[in-house]
Amino acid sequence: MIFDAHTHTEISSDSEMKAADALNVAEKLGIGIIFTEHFDFDYRQSVHFKDMDFLLDPKEYFSKYESLRGDRLLLGIEVGLTSGSIEANKQIVAENPFDQVIGSIHAIDGYDIYYPEYYEGKSKDEAFTDYFQAMAAMIKANPFIDILGHIDYMCRYAPYDNKEIDYNLHHEAIDAVLRNVLETDTVMELNTRRLYDRTAVEALMPIYKRYRDMGGRYITIGSDAHTEENIGMNFKVALDLAEHLNLQPVHFKNRKIEI
Ligand SMILES: [Zn+2]
Ligand SMILES: [Zn+2]
Repeated sequence: MIFDAHTHTEISSDSEMKAADALNVAEKLGIGIIFTEHFDFDYRQSVHFKDMDFLLDPKEYFSKYESLRGDRLLLGIEVGLTSGSIEANKQIVAENPFDQVIGSIHAIDGYDIYYPEYYEGKSKDEAFTDYFQAMAAMIKANPFIDILGHIDYMCRYAPYDNKEIDYNLHHEAIDAVLRNVLETDTVMELNTRRLYDRTAVEALMPIYKRYRDMGGRYITIGSDAHTEENIGMNFKVALDLAEHLNLQPVHFKNRKIEI
């Protein structure tokens, strides 16, 4: 069964999705689903912390959803990768029975990529170079994650006319990311949120092709849905891309790859 391996329910501070609604949609689509709730430990420092805390309480999480866990629903986490969160990430992952752990860059040097402040005074080239360098370093520093989440996260919010990643321009920094992914046995996610856009697909293609050429075999496919309407979105595009590049879609159960 194909799994939507990246979703957020009301346990995450930026989502109100109910688990039952998510499961209903997954059942209708004939897919499995993995909840991957936010844990961004460094967000404590953020000026936006009062509105959103992004601190997963594992006790609350497992007591709320353990009874729903089964063939179609697995319980994971998405940890934010920052230099100040390495120990906290390591600890929450070691101490709790997650099925799957996504590691994601959401912030760099204390700035949330979601907000315009991060991009002030930076050219697109600088913003993306810093992003990929932080990503490569954080994969090395968090080798216990299973998956690198949304490599194109910055393209969602970057305030440039062309928001897409230019693989040729950033090939050194991106290759360093992919090398560290492979050296730490991490799997690349193909995030489907932006795949309705052919330009995004074309820009992502050389990155995943390079991943395959360097020895990558697996990808996870995740919508990053925060509402039930987005579960499984653009999966056809993602599955076609995977097939085209000979990458095997997988997910993780009990921290092990399932095909
Ligand atoms: Zn994320
Ligand atoms: Zn997410």
